[in-house]
Amino acid sequence: MADAMWIRRSSTEIEQRKRRQRFSPVGALGITTFIMLLVWLLPRHSGSTHWKAFALTFLTCFVLLYVSHVLVGRYLIPLPGPSYGPPTALILNMICPLCRTTQPDTDSHTCQCGGQLEPLDHWRWVEDDKAKGPSTPAI
Ligand SMILES: [Zn+2]
Repeated sequence: MADAMWIRRSSTEIEQRKRRQRFSPVGALGITTFIMLLVWLLPRHSGSTHWKAFALTFLTCFVLLYVSHVLVGRYLIPLPGPSYGPPTALILNMICPLCRTTQPDTDSHTCQCGGQLEPLDHWRWVEDDKAKGPSTPAI
């Protein structure tokens, strides 16, 4: 059997990933596109689309989402309703460092084996030979 396993990322790597995710405009762009699609599908009074207003709304919406994500780490939708975090919060996003099983987060943040759950983001799946040597030199 191949020696594949979960290994913990270095704290430097975790920070880099967080920063990259935080400043990535992809999520904001996706949500804005979705909202604008809904707006576009709404019935209009006149037959023509006001492209200027449309573009301005798109830009405002995108900037608000992007800035909110950079500042607070969440997408604050400029509409009534809850704010939306990354979808990973809903799935198997935690890992137990003792038994190395991925699982949903629990209220107590502890695994059935007693281990303290950590965000799966802090771990990386590696295949056989890559798992043997340390991924980054210890500082
Ligand atoms: Zn466990």
